[in-house]
Amino acid sequence: MNIEQTLSIIKPNAVKKNIIGFIESRLEQARFNIVAIKMIHLTREQAEGFYAEHEGKAFFDRLITFMTSGPVVVQVLEAENAISRYREIMGATDLSKALAGTLRYDFADNVTENAVHGSDSVESAEREIAYFFANNEIFSNY
Ligand code: UDP
Repeated sequence: MNIEQTLSIIKPNAVKKNIIGFIESRLEQARFNIVAIKMIHLTREQAEGFYAEHEGKAFFDRLITFMTSGPVVVQVLEAENAISRYREIMGATDLSKALAGTLRYDFADNVTENAVHGSDSVESAEREIAYFFANNEIFSNY
């Protein structure tokens, strides 16, 4: 079994839509275990550090303004092949390319305000989880 942990964010537009429980329910039905969770309002510094790889891109400022526009839920999901499986459930970054049945198809407003985040590799997941959680805040089942 390839048990992985991935960093998931329920972004400000999804929190505003009052669908935190709905998203969590979908994830639990898909057999993800939520092993760490908190709600925070990111500062610009926190958001810029998290998205450092995108600094300099045309959408960077829009992304940081959006990510700091309201509270988010940050959480660690644990499951077999959690990284790729969660990205499938999220759907494509760009709403117009997201498949029906994905979270972004249902809840994204546009390419920036796309409802959810998920780590894209084992290395990103490690960095992103450590960005928000101390080891003793993560309750792994393994
Ligand atoms: N983003 C954007 N415009 C773009 C590409 C990305 O506003 O053309 C935002 C969007 O919110 C996305 C985030 O920047 O989720 C990070 O982009 P990435 O390419 O890493 O996409 P993801 O891994 O989130 O699907």
